[in-house]
Amino acid sequence: MITEQQRHYIMSRIRGKATKPELLVRSWLWKHGYRYRLNVNSVPGRPDIVLRRYRTAIFVNGCFWHGHEECGKPSIPKRNTEFWVTKIARNRERDQRNYKDLHDAGWYVSVIWECQLKKNNIEATMRSIEHALNTHLLEMYKCKNYNNNTN
Ligand SMILES: [Zn+2]
Repeated sequence: MITEQQRHYIMSRIRGKATKPELLVRSWLWKHGYRYRLNVNSVPGRPDIVLRRYRTAIFVNGCFWHGHEECGKPSIPKRNTEFWVTKIARNRERDQRNYKDLHDAGWYVSVIWECQLKKNNIEATMRSIEHALNTHLLEMYKCKNYNNNTN
């Protein structure tokens, strides 16, 4: 059986609603003055959060669904193990394709993992995202050939 959390995730995907980790990231960004757009179809890979000014796409990945290896392997359900392993592997492949497509289209990609958004590490995580955003902005200004054709 799937866990309550997984079921919740599936339902929220079906309804097109944001997951809790996404909401945490969005509210932090908003509070700190970053304006963003959600699920922009015109951007490759349809990222969760898009900050055009920083030409940055942010993905907020659930550790289970996207197979985060660094956080002690979220447990695969005992039943239908094969199904879940395949599904997660596919998600990871799709992620990599999306990141590459974005990169090729001149976007910066930031990936935030669900496990990096706990009470004790969310601030550090978001500060490092903020740092990345400012670095991206700086790089764009430094790059003389950058042409602003994003809008
Ligand atoms: Zn994780």
